[in-house]
Amino acid sequence: MSKEASKGTALVTGASSGIGAVYADRLARRGYDLLLVARDRKRLEDLAARLRGETGVAVEVLTADLTAREDLLAVEKRLRDDAAISLIVNNAGLGPEGALIGADIDYLDRMIALNVTAVNRLAIAAATVFAARDRGGIINIASVVALIPEIFSGSYSGSKAFVLNLTQALQSEVAKTSVRVQAVLPGLTRTEIFDRVGRSFDEFDPASVMDAGDLVDAALVGFDRGELVTIPSLPDAKDWEAASAARVALGPNLSKDKPADRYRMKAVA
Ligand code: NAP
Repeated sequence: MSKEASKGTALVTGASSGIGAVYADRLARRGYDLLLVARDRKRLEDLAARLRGETGVAVEVLTADLTAREDLLAVEKRLRDDAAISLIVNNAGLGPEGALIGADIDYLDRMIALNVTAVNRLAIAAATVFAARDRGGIINIASVVALIPEIFSGSYSGSKAFVLNLTQALQSEVAKTSVRVQAVLPGLTRTEIFDRVGRSFDEFDPASVMDAGDLVDAALVGFDRGELVTIPSLPDAKDWEAASAARVALGPNLSKDKPADRYRMKAVA
């Protein structure tokens, strides 16, 4: 395939396991060359060798701890300098250990560094270079817990709400370009995410846990359809549209020169 006809290179963060490894597989089968980013070189090399053998695409491994500023800046630099990169999947993320009260706040700091700071840098850098080239795609992996903070660790759900907001804001900035932006909101998805924090999917009803392959295949259908927000579990898209419309309807009344009448102090008799 000529370089012009090729889809370019997809940079996938957190490609060594779970959802990211499935994205790497599916994107290779769609003809993307790959740049795989995570910390575990051996797992990345093994995946790279398999995908080169099975699909014939070029696969490069870039090890980075995205919570370490130097590593993050190196990945960002590659993203800015390599004009072949046409798609980024901001997928690397850590899950919560449990409730907030009594939590290890240092762990939550690391989680925020990965789920928020790294995604922020890489998504904005990608949007900047892609908009200038009028080409490219940004897929940000958020979570349905962005919508239901009451039932899940607030630091984690907040980090995923950040990813959702960032994606929606970027979309409004790239709207006049050919750049495509998508936030994917998985529900529970069978990966290593809970093993990493000493938890297990056995805590949950199996009927609420999706396989990573099904999740990514559905998310890519949403991407192909040009969806800004994809919620693979949600049966009826109208439910999301109604929730979004209710939020947008608040807009004209969210910033005024005076408080609403309902907050006026009652005159004391
Ligand atoms: P996973 O199997 O644990 O994969 C996490 C990936 O992130 C691994 O490739 C890991 O690779 C990488 N990673 C972890 N720390 C890193 C660091 N400091 N620097 C660079 N890479 C790092 O979990 P997953 O479920 O596939 O998670 C993928 C994304 O989906 C996350 O953003 C997660 O929040 C989101 N999500 C998951 C679920 C779920 O139920 N599974 C639901 C909603 C959203 P290394 O260890 O090699 O670095």
